[in-house]
Amino acid sequence: MESISSPVEMFFFPFVGGGHQIPMVDMARMFAAHGAKSVIISTPKHALSFRESIHRDQQSGRPVFIEILLLPDNIDIADSDMSATPVTDTSMLQEPLKKLLLQRKPDCIVHDMFHHWAADAIDNLELNVARVVFNGNGCFASCARENISKFKPQEKVDSKYEPFVVPGLPDRIEMTRSQLPVTRIVQDNMRKSKENCYGMVVNSFYELEPAYVEQFKKGNRAWIVGPVSLYNRNIADKAERGKKAAIDEQTILSWLHSKPPNSVLYISFGSSPRFAPQQILELAHGLQASNQPFIWVIRNVFNGEGAEFLTEFEEKMRESKQGLIINGWAPQLLILEHGSVGGFMTHCGWNSTLEGVSCGVPMITWPISAEQFYNEKLVTDVLKIGVRMGSLDWLRWNMEPRVSVGRDMVEVAVKRLMGGGEEGGEMRNKARVIGEMAKKAVEGGGSSYKEAIALINELKDRRRIIE
Ligand code: UDP
Repeated sequence: MESISSPVEMFFFPFVGGGHQIPMVDMARMFAAHGAKSVIISTPKHALSFRESIHRDQQSGRPVFIEILLLPDNIDIADSDMSATPVTDTSMLQEPLKKLLLQRKPDCIVHDMFHHWAADAIDNLELNVARVVFNGNGCFASCARENISKFKPQEKVDSKYEPFVVPGLPDRIEMTRSQLPVTRIVQDNMRKSKENCYGMVVNSFYELEPAYVEQFKKGNRAWIVGPVSLYNRNIADKAERGKKAAIDEQTILSWLHSKPPNSVLYISFGSSPRFAPQQILELAHGLQASNQPFIWVIRNVFNGEGAEFLTEFEEKMRESKQGLIINGWAPQLLILEHGSVGGFMTHCGWNSTLEGVSCGVPMITWPISAEQFYNEKLVTDVLKIGVRMGSLDWLRWNMEPRVSVGRDMVEVAVKRLMGGGEEGGEMRNKARVIGEMAKKAVEGGGSSYKEAIALINELKDRRRIIE
C-alpha cells in the first residue's frame, strides 16, 4: 500500500467476455477520472481489446494502467471472441493474481463474481485489501432474484406459464417459471463472492430505480456508480469499445444522418447472441413487413438453410436504404446516441439496457437468458419505456436455440414502437427524460458521481486506520 498522501490504488479484475469486461474497463476509467489510481488486471489476449482507450486516457493525464497476468506457457483463457459464459474457467489466473496482490498490496480490488475462486483466494491472503464485488446486474434484477430465491413463488404455480407475483418488491411484478434460470450457477457465484466482501459496486444510477436501490442497499453495502458507459466521451472510445467495429464510423454515421430523427430501429442482441437460423429469418421477414428503417447487428455465422435468402434480403435492404446490416461487432454507443435512432430491439443484457436508457431510447425487449427477463420487467412494467416482443422461455447458454418469436410478432412490436403512434411517442418521451437523468447522475454533484467519490474517500480513510 502506498503512502497516506498518494492516490487510492484500485485494482479491477474483470471477467473475460463482452458483457462483463466492457463495463468494468469503463468503471476503472471512471474511478481514474475521479482521482483514484486504477489498474486493470487482464491477460495478454483480453487486454488487446481495450488498451487503445487506456492509452488515450493516459495521454490525457488519467492514472489508469493495465497489469498483464503472465500465464504459464502462454496459455490463455478458453473463450473465443467475447463468448465466455459463467462457467468459463479462469482459475489459471489464480497464482499470478495472488503474486501480484502480494507484491503491490492495493487499497482495493474490484473483482467480477464470475471468477468464482477469487473471493477465497483474495481473502486467504489476509492482506487487508478491501475486496469489492461487481456482479454486472442492476438493483431491480438483484432484488427480484433474491426474493424469488427466498420465497419461492414459482413453486406455488401449476404450470411453467402460469404467472406468479414476485413477493416483497416495491411494484407488482408478475413472472412465470419459464422465465427463470434453470441453473443456480449465477446465484452460487454471487453468494460466494458476497461472503465477507467489503461491498459491491453497481452499474446503475439511483434515479433509474430508486426503490430498488434502497431495497438492495438494505441487504448489501453498495455504491451505485453508473452508467459507466457515459465515460466514453470521444468518438474513438465509442467506436472501438469492446472491440474494433466491423463497420467504419463514417459509413454508419452518414447512413444515420440520412434518416429522419427517431426513425431508425437499432437491433442487437449483445456480445454472444445465439439464434437459430430459422429465428433470424423470421426476424428478417418481420422487419421487411414493418417497413421501418433499421440497423441490425448479426453476429451469428450463417451458412445453412436460408443463407441465400439472407444475402438477398441484405442487398434489397441496402438498395432500398431501409436497412443496414452489420456482420460483426457494432459501435453500439455511437449508434444509440444518434438522433435518428428512435428504438432499440435488445436482448435486455444489463449493459445494453442501461446504454439504451442513457441514450434516451425506448426498447423492444426480447430477453433470452441470464437475468434478462428481470431487466425486461424493469423496462416494460416499471419504467414503461418498452414494448415486449413476447419471448417466454429462458435459454441456457449451451442449449440449442429454437424459434420463439414469429415474423408477425416482430411486425406488431416494431409498428407499436416505431409506427408513429401515441404509445411509442409516450415511451420515447419518458425514455428521453430518464436519459437526461442518467447524464446528470454521472456529472459533478450527481448521485453516481457522489457515490464513486464516497468509495474513494472511504478507502482513503481506511488506509489511515490500517496504517
Ligand atoms: N456491444 C457492442 N457491439 C456489439 C455487441 C455488443 O458494443 O456489436 C457491447 C454493448 O454495447 C454492451 C456489451 O457489448 O456494452 C454487451 O453487454 P450486455 O450486458 O448488453 O449483453 P451480454 O453480451 O453480456 O449478453
